[in-house]
Amino acid sequence: TKLRVGLLFGGCSGEHEVSINSARAIAKALSAEQNASKYEILPFYIQKDGRWLAGNVSQQVLESGQPLQLPRSNPEPQENQLGSDSSQLSTADRLSFSRWQSPSQVAEVDVWFPILHGPNGEDGTVQGLLTLMQVPFVGSGVLGSAMGMDKIAMKMAFAQAGLPQVKYMAVNRSQIWSNPCVFPKLCDQIELNLGYPCFIKPANLGSSVGIAKARSRQELETALDNAASYDRRIIVEAGVIARELECAVLGNDQPQASVVGEITYSSDFYDYETKYTQGKADLVIPATVSDAVTRQIQEMALQAFAAIDAGGLARVDFFYVEATGEVLINEINTLPGFTATSMYPLLWAHSGVSFPELVDRLIQLALERRSTPE
Ligand code: ATP
Ligand code: MG
Ligand code: MG
Ligand code: MG
Repeated sequence: TKLRVGLLFGGCSGEHEVSINSARAIAKALSAEQNASKYEILPFYIQKDGRWLAGNVSQQVLESGQPLQLPRSNPEPQENQLGSDSSQLSTADRLSFSRWQSPSQVAEVDVWFPILHGPNGEDGTVQGLLTLMQVPFVGSGVLGSAMGMDKIAMKMAFAQAGLPQVKYMAVNRSQIWSNPCVFPKLCDQIELNLGYPCFIKPANLGSSVGIAKARSRQELETALDNAASYDRRIIVEAGVIARELECAVLGNDQPQASVVGEITYSSDFYDYETKYTQGKADLVIPATVSDAVTRQIQEMALQAFAAIDAGGLARVDFFYVEATGEVLINEINTLPGFTATSMYPLLWAHSGVSFPELVDRLIQLALERRSTPE
């Protein structure tokens, strides 16, 4: 009998659309010849408002690639939202979040494949829910997911592991918004410790959302205020001039590192627009760096993976300061972009693991982690 894979996608984060594309690529890989006899897909689409949809509605989102928002007051979908056969929609297709525990389709899942990027999916919240459901799932658990999402916690773990990184300061929203006397002092400290340019980031986001580069006091103040609108926790980092290299990790207790890839672009930094506009960035795989740098990055990627207690998969991002030969760790992503053109699966393809084989391995890793004694 086939293993029923609960593909969980969409979600309430700014990376909703990316998640749909990742899920489409994974669904295709699960239906590929070598996997089709092993796995059956049960799609669960999470709307932007957090409601879970199941059955043929999720399937249609998967097929169309278009986000869907069924109105809360009138859950009966409009004809034009779902196409001609929307009349077949049953109540079982609209699982409101408050009913998630009982629907039969959730109970049928043998293993979950959450492919949600950013907050409410990559950060340990959904992992906590799946842990409570006592069904194995792909990827990191609660701790690894939360540590990987919060850049302050992540950097503390990296520092503890002895991994080199840029200078940074952790900032709380209250230092920006609450007390008018504190804010100028905070900016003074940032100028003194980090200087310009510096990068201001909401601690718990992805896809460069809310990230700004500041070259002056004025830009710093604006960026801090803006970042505070995204998150209570904010991180400010010294800016470096560096090449951007990424490495993929796969495994549980004996993880493996992929070949190293490079991101190239001509914009100021790798911001949201550069990430998601066709042709604005290029992936170079393998990166043209020395074997020594490659090995150093692979080693650091595995150390970072262990430092935050990641599991299954992660993409680790680095800065290679060519002028000094220094390799600095930037961050780890525990549920990296997983579309057909995303760095994570492409790094594995160049390391000899095809996309269908990769999703198969990830599901087996989820089952393996579950079967180890608690
Ligand atoms: P992802 O989509 O990979 O999850 P993210 O939102 O977590 O991204 P970061 O990877 O921390 O964000 O930063 C996004 C980009 O901003 C980097 O790829 C890089 O181009 C630029 N950047 C971030 N921090 C620095 C820094 N300290 N110095 C120079 N450039 C930086
Ligand atoms: Mg990130
Ligand atoms: Mg990310
Ligand atoms: Mg990044």
